[in-house]
Amino acid sequence: MAQLKVFITRPIPEEIRAKIAAECEVDMWHTSAILPPIAEKIPPLDGLMTYGHEPVSPEMIATSPNLKVISVVGVGYDHVHVETCRERGIAVGHTPGVLSDTTADMTMALLLAASRNIVPADKHVQTKQWLYYDPNILWGYDVHHATIGIVGMGRIGYAVAKRALAFDMRVLYYKRERRRDWEEELGIKYVDMEHLLRDSDFVTLHVPLTDETTHMIGKAELALMKSTAILVNIARGPVVDHYALYDALREGQIAGAALDVTEPEPLNIDHPLLGLDNVIIAPHLGSATIQTRMKMATMAMENLLAGLKGEQLPYGVLQPNF
Ligand code: NAP
Repeated sequence: MAQLKVFITRPIPEEIRAKIAAECEVDMWHTSAILPPIAEKIPPLDGLMTYGHEPVSPEMIATSPNLKVISVVGVGYDHVHVETCRERGIAVGHTPGVLSDTTADMTMALLLAASRNIVPADKHVQTKQWLYYDPNILWGYDVHHATIGIVGMGRIGYAVAKRALAFDMRVLYYKRERRRDWEEELGIKYVDMEHLLRDSDFVTLHVPLTDETTHMIGKAELALMKSTAILVNIARGPVVDHYALYDALREGQIAGAALDVTEPEPLNIDHPLLGLDNVIIAPHLGSATIQTRMKMATMAMENLLAGLKGEQLPYGVLQPNF
């Protein structure tokens, strides 16, 4: 496949890049610090691997008439215009499953950090304000025996439910199709969205970003939540209306939020959310562990190479020829 051209939008582990380069011509964007040059067009390519959620628009796809495969390093593929790929017969792959436990771990990390004030506690110590033991600062909320509401209970939501049960939490969940097998297996309860929002101490979001889930948490939904509740968004930024969230946090309508994802990413430096002390924000780290990122890159490589050969992708979202 020496003549086939591939572009990788961010540095991936060298051993994976080398395996791809053994089969085709690879151009890999050299840094994570500056956006790769796919903002307006991509060079004529046979394969594209996206590793930074860079939007892949119909216009960009049009600049590569021979494009055979787009391989996403990640499970969410909302940044790729799948409809154009379908029309053009371009295969699209992603990396489901391998990151579920890691992303569920991060969900619990955010939930615990927000409920137990870990970030302000660290700031308190690091800024040398810890001059004596004060029993009356930084009281948080109990996690154990609290109620968690999992919105979008799929692979990651299921892994979060298992972790929540280990904390003796009561688990509610919502998705469009009920999973009675999971209810039986885990002892969790299916409820509608309104019930979940009203009844949960922690609401965690795990839906894919679609037209239906865009701003699914807005003013009306936040108004249903308890004033002591904490919202954790580890799905995609636009699932939450950030201006409604800002108002809810500022007015104490909910107690706090922990966001792994934002709209946009990164947040503008003057974004109002950045001035609040009851929100913590991570720069999209859900799957970011050494072990998991390696596995994701490997799966993405397998998708890419299969797509270039016109074979079925092992982890396909869209496989026009199969
Ligand atoms: P998944 O297994 O497909 O689960 C998604 C769940 O959302 C499904 O159970 C689906 O069930 C539900 N859902 C879809 N549309 C819905 C709607 N309109 N209302 C309610 N529920 C809905 O996907 P996953 O592997 O768990 O990943 C979920 C998402 O997490 C990804 O798409 C990605 O955007 C995000 N993610 C983020 C990170 C990060 O680093 N922060 C890492 C990995 C993934 P029904 O079809 O029955 O509704």
